[in-house]
Amino acid sequence: MSVCVIGAGLSGLAAAYALSGRGIDFVCLEKAPDVGGIWRMPGAGEAGPAYRALHLNSAKQLTGFADFPMSCELPLYPRHSDVAAYLRSFAEWAGLLPRIELRTEVLSVRKRRGGGWTVTSRDASGGKVVRTFDQVIVASGHHSEPALPNPLPPGASSFGGTILHSMDYQDGRDFAGQRVVVVGLGASGVDIAADLSRHAERTVLSVRRGLHIVPKQMYGMSVDLIAEASWFTGRSFEEQQRFVEESLMVARGRLSDYGLPEPDHPIFSSAVTISDEILSRIRHGAVLPKPAIASLDGDRVSFADGTSVEADAIVYCTGFRMAFPFLAAGCPTGPQGPVELYRRIVAPDRPGLLFVGLIRPVGSITRLVEAQARWVARIVDGDVALPSADVMRKEIDGYLSGIAERYGLTEGTSVQVDVGPYLRELSEA
Ligand SMILES: Cc1cc2nc3c(=O)[nH]c(=O)nc-3n(C[C@H](O)[C@H](O)[C@H](O)COP(=O)(O)OP(=O)(O)OC[C@H]3O[C@@H](n4cnc5c(N)ncnc54)[C@H](O)[C@@H]3O)c2cc1C
Repeated sequence: MSVCVIGAGLSGLAAAYALSGRGIDFVCLEKAPDVGGIWRMPGAGEAGPAYRALHLNSAKQLTGFADFPMSCELPLYPRHSDVAAYLRSFAEWAGLLPRIELRTEVLSVRKRRGGGWTVTSRDASGGKVVRTFDQVIVASGHHSEPALPNPLPPGASSFGGTILHSMDYQDGRDFAGQRVVVVGLGASGVDIAADLSRHAERTVLSVRRGLHIVPKQMYGMSVDLIAEASWFTGRSFEEQQRFVEESLMVARGRLSDYGLPEPDHPIFSSAVTISDEILSRIRHGAVLPKPAIASLDGDRVSFADGTSVEADAIVYCTGFRMAFPFLAAGCPTGPQGPVELYRRIVAPDRPGLLFVGLIRPVGSITRLVEAQARWVARIVDGDVALPSADVMRKEIDGYLSGIAERYGLTEGTSVQVDVGPYLRELSEA
């Protein structure tokens, strides 16, 4: 069985480890000069979803691989460069490096008539290489392209300052002395606003819709460790919601008291934003919350409440779009936009095309990716028989209608998973 893994970030390394554990031959193609995915990019000065102030939001115990824990010398929430170094040391420890071709970009993956896949890549010297494989495991990440509001606010073309997306944001020091508006209350928005607030002359945080902001720790414990604790998982979903909402009232009070919109939905019915810093930076007067941007005019940014500020830069932290330019259209995202994969892994009509890491949990992704990787290795090994394409499509429909009910169906929500139930599903599969 010949297998190609695309990408050597956390997910590609997990897939490679699971394959090598079963003695399955594979090659892993990675376009970057090193392993580590998004975590190595800021250290290499490359544009990407990560930035120089980025630290883990999830505890190192849950973010490191189970068989190769992060060093006890690292803090609970290591910096991006420490995570990148850790991922490299994992690849070394697991003996994966000889199977990883760096600076090798996959250009296309096409189904072969008689079965299997043709993978065309460009190697480090710029030459094209065409190979065939029985199975292809896509682990190329999903924070691929900037998702900017379309259209931008009225008057955007008259704005005299810089408009950028968080993908092009590297370091708050690049904005020293400037007046900056950050748009978005997701993980990147709050991190970047807190970072900028230490360098910029003024930092405004523009927020359209309220989201639950959860500190990294409560009761002295990392929140993702709480989410795993038996005293928490033993409660019903409603009891968990009530417990967290009450704890949040104690830890931080109402978001409206900080000038932020209150969430219009209960906790866990939409993504939460993990941050220890943003509320403190607001209370220190270092970040000024504002509603959505209504319009731009010269260097003036006007907000939905009628107020306005002058700005030199606007940083849109409005999320990412997935991109799989090497795959034919229609997979893994279907015609409506959402990802359509059986158990978030298998493309029903494309035998031998599997995905690892195309999920978005609340908390660390690692245990889920490891479980996906083990299941994928069993599929490759013939240890797991997949159901018919019809049965797989039914599972996808059921899953997506659950997502539609809970979050509303978009490309981004279609990869949302609940840690406990998803782990159980994969371990029983
Ligand atoms: C700002 C931010 C903060 C985050 N914080 C956390 C956190 O605290 N905890 C957590 O668990 N998760 C966090 N995540 C989720 C994070 O995405 C995962 O931790 C993890 O890095 C995902 O790894 P990956 O391998 O799936 O994707 P990536 O890290 O994106 O790696 C994909 C790899 O595929 C390669 N690739 C892409 N296309 C090709 C191609 N055509 N040919 C060859 N190679 C290709 C890329 O170069 C890259 O190396 C965060 C994400 C972001 C954006």
